[in-house]
Amino acid sequence: MTMTFFFETYGCQMNQAESASVERLLVELGWEPAPEAERADLVILNTCSVRITAETRVAGRIAHFAALKRQRSFTLLVMGCMAERLHEEFRAKFPAVDYVVGMFERNRFSDIFRSVAAGGEYEAVDETPVNSYWFAPSSYEAGAFQSFVPIMNGCNNFCTYCIVPYVRGREVSRGLPEILSEFDDLADRGVREVTLLGQNVNSYRWTDPESGTIVDFPGLLERIARRVEQKGKIRWIRFMSSHPKDFSDALIDTIARERVLCRFIHLPVQHGSNRILSDMNRKYAREDYLALVDRIRSRIPDATLSTDILVGFPGETEADLQDTLDLIETVAFDAAYMYHYNPREGTTAFSMPNRVPDAVKKERLDRVIKLQHKISAERMRSRVGSRLIVLVESFSRNDPDELFGHTEMGEMVVFAGKQDSALFGHFVLAELTGLRGRTFRAKIIKTELEANDALETDTLSGDSARDDLLHRV
Ligand code: SF4
Repeated sequence: MTMTFFFETYGCQMNQAESASVERLLVELGWEPAPEAERADLVILNTCSVRITAETRVAGRIAHFAALKRQRSFTLLVMGCMAERLHEEFRAKFPAVDYVVGMFERNRFSDIFRSVAAGGEYEAVDETPVNSYWFAPSSYEAGAFQSFVPIMNGCNNFCTYCIVPYVRGREVSRGLPEILSEFDDLADRGVREVTLLGQNVNSYRWTDPESGTIVDFPGLLERIARRVEQKGKIRWIRFMSSHPKDFSDALIDTIARERVLCRFIHLPVQHGSNRILSDMNRKYAREDYLALVDRIRSRIPDATLSTDILVGFPGETEADLQDTLDLIETVAFDAAYMYHYNPREGTTAFSMPNRVPDAVKKERLDRVIKLQHKISAERMRSRVGSRLIVLVESFSRNDPDELFGHTEMGEMVVFAGKQDSALFGHFVLAELTGLRGRTFRAKIIKTELEANDALETDTLSGDSARDDLLHRV
C-alpha cells in the first residue's frame, strides 16, 4: 500500500524550501502527497517561532490533529524552529506529536519515514543530532518555474527582537560545488528563476578546502552567473535577506554588472530612529542606510527597493515614529513588509522596559501602512505605459483564458484575452496597460519563443537578458 503525506508549512521561505526538500525525500522513498491532511498517513508541521502568533497557530493545529487521532491512526511529525526551540518540552506538552525533529537532526528523516511505513517495525532511527546544519540536496518542487536555493543558515547578528539566532544557530555557509550543481539540476528541470536564501546572505563565506580560496557573497554571485550562462535557462536570480551593514560596494558592483541578478533589492531597515536602531542592535544608523540607498541608486539607476519596518519597539516615542515615516518618504520604497513588535520570550528585547501599548502600536502601524501603500501605488501607477519583462506562470485564477505572471520585482501581471499555455515558464516582453488594485494589466509585445534563436545564443553577463529582449523586439 502506498503511504501518503501532507505538509503544513509556516513562516519564512527558508521553511518552504526545507519542506520542499523533505517532500522530495518522501517521494524518492515511494510516498505520495495526500490531497488533504485529514486523509494522510503522515502529517508534517514545519513550524515558525519568529512570532508568538505563529506558535499559537501551530498549537491550535496540533489540538485539531490530536482530536483527529482519536478517530483514526496516523503519524504526526513536527519540524522547524518551534521544534528546535521547545524540543523535549514539545512531546510533553503535545502528546499527540509522534516525532519532533530539531534543526540539526535532519539525518533522522529517512529512518523515521521508513519506520512509519513499516508500521513502527523499522528500528534503526538514529536520534543523534548531527551538530551542524545539513543542507538538503534540493528544494525543487515538481513542475515549478521558480525555486529556492538555500546558501547559508543561521545568524550571528542577534538583533534584540529576533529569536532566529537562538533556534537556527550560528551562520553556516553551504559549499560552492553543491550550490552550483543544484543550479545545473534546476536548469535541467526547466526552472527559470531562483531565489538564494539565508538569514543574512551577505555573510556568505566559503573556503575551498583544496586551494584555500575564500568565496564571499559577491564572489558566489559571480560564479553562479558564469555557471547559468552555460545552460542559458535560468534568467532571474534574486536573494534574501540582506543585512544593510553587510551590503558592500563590491556587491552593488556585482548586481550592476551581472544582468542575471534581479534589480529588485530587499533591504530591511526596520526603523528610522537611531535610538531605536541602536536598541535593536542593528549596527547601522539611518544616515548609513540612506547613504547605502544612494550608492545603490547611483550605481543601479533602475533598482527597485523593498524593506521591512518594525513599529512599536519598546521605548518607541511619537518622535521615533516620525523618523520612520520620514525615512519611508525619503527612500520611497517600492514595497514594504510592515509589522508591529510582539515580545518574544528568549530575546533581549523581551525584558526591555517601556513597552508600547497594543492600541498605540496598532495605530502607529496603520499610519506606516497607509503611507507606504500610497507610495507603492504611486510608483506602480508611474510605470503604466512602460515595457518590461514578465515571467508567465499559469492561467489567471479569476479568468482561465487570461495569463498570469510576475515582473522582476515580483509584481503580479495579467494578460487579457484568450492566451496560450505554451507560454508557461517563458519570458515575454510586455507593455503595462493598466493597474487594477496591485495587479498590472498588460499586453504581450513579443515572446521569448519568438526571440528564441537570438536569446539562446546570447550571454547573460554584461548586456542584460532584458535589454537584449527589449532591443530585439
Ligand atoms: S539579522 Fe537580525 S533580524 Fe535577521 S535573522 Fe539575524 S538576528 Fe534576526
